[in-house]
Amino acid sequence: MKKCRLVFLGTGGSMGVPVIACQCQVCTSLDPHNQRLRPSVLIKTDLQTILIDSSPDFRTQALRAKIQNIDNVIFTHAHHDHTAGVDDLRIFTLRNNFKMPCLLSQETLRDLQKRFYYIFEEIVGKPKFTTNLEITLLPEVEGEIAFAGLNIRSFTYRQCGMAVNGLRFGNFAFLTDIKEYDPEIFNFLKGVKILVISALRFTPSIFHLTVDEAIEFAAKVGAEKVWLTHIAHELDHEKTNAYLPEHIRLSYDGLEFEFEAEEA
Ligand SMILES: [Zn+2]
Ligand SMILES: [Zn+2]
Repeated sequence: MKKCRLVFLGTGGSMGVPVIACQCQVCTSLDPHNQRLRPSVLIKTDLQTILIDSSPDFRTQALRAKIQNIDNVIFTHAHHDHTAGVDDLRIFTLRNNFKMPCLLSQETLRDLQKRFYYIFEEIVGKPKFTTNLEITLLPEVEGEIAFAGLNIRSFTYRQCGMAVNGLRFGNFAFLTDIKEYDPEIFNFLKGVKILVISALRFTPSIFHLTVDEAIEFAAKVGAEKVWLTHIAHELDHEKTNAYLPEHIRLSYDGLEFEFEAEEA
C-alpha cells in the first residue's frame, strides 16, 4: 500500500459559491468554508501528483495551493465545470516538455475532442503550444488499471445521460456527479473506508444526489468517513454539518486527508 494525500482544490458545484450576483445568506457569508471554487482535487503520492478534473477555477486553485507540478490528470467526465481548466495545464507540459499522462473513458475523450479540438490536433514540424496529453483509456464500464504508479479501479455511472467514472484507490473511493447508477456499484465499493461523494443541496436535482440521498448511499457503503462535495449555495457549512451524522461532513476548499492506495 502507498500513503497518499488528497487535497480538495474546489468543493463547489458548477457555479461555484458565491454564485455570481447572488445575495443569499451563504453567498454573502463571511465564513471561508462557504466559499467554494469549482470541482478539482489533487492527489499526492511520495513521487507524483495527480489532478482529478481541471475546473474552470484551476488557475486560481493552483496559485492558492502553491502547486509546483501536475504530473498526471484524470477526467471523471467531460462537463465544463470539470474540464474547462485543461488549458491551464499547459504550463506544466510546456515547461517540462512532456506529454502529461491523462486517464479518462473513451466517451469522455470523444467529448473532449469536440470541446478542445486544438489540444488533440497532430502538429508536424512545429512546437506544440497547447496542453500535451498522453491518453490512457479507462476500462469499459468497470475494471482496473495501473496509472501513476497506482492501481486504480473505475466504475461507470450516469448523470443525465453523460457517462461519469467513479474511482477507487485502495480503501478510498471518489464519486462525483453521481445520479443514476447500477446497484452493482455497491460491490465495487465493498470495503471502502473513506468516501468522497457529491451532494448538491437538500432539494432534488436531475443531475445530483441530494444531501439525504448521499447519506443513504453512504450508509449502504458503510464507509467510516464520508466527505460530501460539489456543494451548491443552498448549503451553509455550519448548519449542514449540524444536520449531518457525525461521520459525514461537508468538505471545504483546502481540506486534506490521507488514505492508502494500492500500488501498481
Ligand atoms: Zn459537476
Ligand atoms: Zn447564493
